[in-house]
Amino acid sequence: MPRFDRSHTDDLAAYIKASPTPYHACAEAGRRFEAAGFRRLDEADEWPVDIGGYYTVRDGSIIAWRINDDEYDAFRIFGAHTDTPTFKVKPRPDTGGAGWKQIAVEVYGGVPHQTWLDRDLSVAGRLVMRDGSEVLVHVDRPLLRVPRLAIHLDRGANEGQKLNAQSQLTPIWGLGQPRDGEFLEFIAAEAGVDAADVFGHDLFTVALDEPAYLGKDEELFAAWRLDNLTSTHAGIAALIAAEGTGTRVPVLASFNYEEIGSMTYSGAQSPFLESVLHRLMGDDFETYARAIAASGMMSSDTGNALHPNYPEKHEPGHRPIPGAGPMIKVSANQRYASGAEEQALFRRAAEAAGIPWQTYVNRNDIPGGTTIGPISGTQLGILTVDVGLPILSMHSARELCGAEDPGLLADLALGLFTH
Ligand code: ZN
Repeated sequence: MPRFDRSHTDDLAAYIKASPTPYHACAEAGRRFEAAGFRRLDEADEWPVDIGGYYTVRDGSIIAWRINDDEYDAFRIFGAHTDTPTFKVKPRPDTGGAGWKQIAVEVYGGVPHQTWLDRDLSVAGRLVMRDGSEVLVHVDRPLLRVPRLAIHLDRGANEGQKLNAQSQLTPIWGLGQPRDGEFLEFIAAEAGVDAADVFGHDLFTVALDEPAYLGKDEELFAAWRLDNLTSTHAGIAALIAAEGTGTRVPVLASFNYEEIGSMTYSGAQSPFLESVLHRLMGDDFETYARAIAASGMMSSDTGNALHPNYPEKHEPGHRPIPGAGPMIKVSANQRYASGAEEQALFRRAAEAAGIPWQTYVNRNDIPGGTTIGPISGTQLGILTVDVGLPILSMHSARELCGAEDPGLLADLALGLFTH
């Protein structure tokens, strides 16, 4: 029997299933926001500043907010990202030979190659049409596979061999002679559009395994894209629940392109969030600057839980584990935004939420990753703290977290919005 209410994590599983790409993650978030009464705004239109919930989408990034009071003077922002390391279909994908049809792909982000071998894979993404409209496509059934070389032909298979990303990771999708244009014709047919009208595509490989609970007491949860749909989903749930925030405007900002450095017109390094916040405060710079000075941001991403088979990889005094709540990520060199003021912001939100929490610090000799916190904080000049969910197998095609932790992260986000 599960030890806790599973409704949040069940809902996360549904969100992950509906969100194989950043474009789908935004569309599904929008669907959920609209069901809760939020309105979609186009960046090219004039925006209302009345009481209500709103969201806008730019190129796989989404920003949503709610105005709960006629007077408002500060923001509480929960940041996340919508993308995941995977493979991206090349512009002219049809390749192969020797009796096999294959799809040419590029590596997107920090993909551990081995995890994608011998899995049922599919493809999802967006098509941009001749008239500029965007069509989402999601082939929700097994379509591709990157087959492993049999161990008999690869005596070094258990000795940590490197795979060549150009020649050894190309998925197969059928038998016969490859024909130029065939794959995109297939995708257009799946999307119900004419291939001749498809003028651009962002298509990615998708891991198809269903999210699942694991363990004797089912206290673990496995899925693809925990990094970082757990945070995006926590922010959606918290924002929908964030009534009574007074003069502070709660905001969810989940960005595309975090896994490749955030430097795009919609990524965390872009002016997207700044532009939204500015528009909400009107054209008086004084008012905007005072609001920024009174604001706080929490940037949420997954982090590395203690791996029981590699305890030496972790800082011995700071060893977060699944099931014990979200963690604050601390780094003296600000790879995570986490000074004393930021720590206090985190503690106030955690205290308001009444949840357990942990601390993450890298070993001095293993610098670790970074995330959008330092970027957004620098970009906006807003006090920003990095938080996250401890997981195992980060960037794998199937990651693992504590089953109760996603709900605690949503509680933390609500604590940020309402404390
Ligand atoms: Zn991440």
